[in-house]
Amino acid sequence: MAFCELCPRRCGVDRTRGERGYCGAPALPHVARAALHFFEEPPISGTRGSGTVFFTGCSLGCVFCQNRAIRAAKSGREMDASALAELFLALEKEGAHNINLVTPTHYADTVRAALLLAKDRLSIPVIYNCGGYERVETLRAFDGLVDVYMPDFKYMDAAWAKECANAPDYAEWAGAAIVEMYRQVGALSYDEAGLLRRGLIVRHLVLPGARADSAAILRRIHELLPVEEIALSLMAQYTPDFAPDDAPRALLRRVTRFEYESVLSLAEELGFRGFSQSRGAANAAYTPDFSIPVFPEKEKA
Ligand code: SF4
Repeated sequence: MAFCELCPRRCGVDRTRGERGYCGAPALPHVARAALHFFEEPPISGTRGSGTVFFTGCSLGCVFCQNRAIRAAKSGREMDASALAELFLALEKEGAHNINLVTPTHYADTVRAALLLAKDRLSIPVIYNCGGYERVETLRAFDGLVDVYMPDFKYMDAAWAKECANAPDYAEWAGAAIVEMYRQVGALSYDEAGLLRRGLIVRHLVLPGARADSAAILRRIHELLPVEEIALSLMAQYTPDFAPDDAPRALLRRVTRFEYESVLSLAEELGFRGFSQSRGAANAAYTPDFSIPVFPEKEKA
């Protein structure tokens, strides 16, 4: 992090000396919330919940982000590698089915160090849950430490990606990232209870007015990976509640049934398997409340 190039923004700032790049993140990870979470895909949440660790900040920064409350990288609890390792173990002790690292990329160095400390003592899978705007070099450092990758694939069209996230090169990076993720974890594998032990789930949030872009994304994933060996999670939960007034006009409404179902039927036609959502999920109530920090009991100061 003395010359930070962890994500495709490649700011080159020295975060060890307090400089901040595009993500605004400090050197050490800040965690907004660490708790059992029940709103992930069924083989991730299971019956006891996924041990989610929500990191503050983000290197992508979509204008409509539903986790806007924790995008400010200065909020949350600062944790070094050994504190993070203890946190992972505490979540397993609470009953988590897995450790679910949410938006870890801009803290990748310390998260990796924490996994090196904890991995041998964890008996549950580790999930890397990210926005898809990743560098292959950064992902390679997690080979053998991550069991399940759960990236988004958000945009194909460069102008749309620029408008939504100031990342016109998004599709190029996301495509290379999912290929590397699949190389590391291979085909989906479940335990006897139907919980995911290993593999790749690519998530796509269908956006209002962007049906053609969604179709292009599905075709791109289909070109890059054997779709029968991965899962697609097609999300309908977009809500305009978090979009600012000056967001692209299309983003100021929900996704229509027609938009979502037409993307879903293309996914079926292309042979994808995985998860779909009811449009009832498009509700701000599905977003964790980050105003109250939640940590496992043993981790509380
Ligand atoms: S992680 Fe942050 S500082 Fe580092 S390259 Fe990405 S946006 Fe820049």
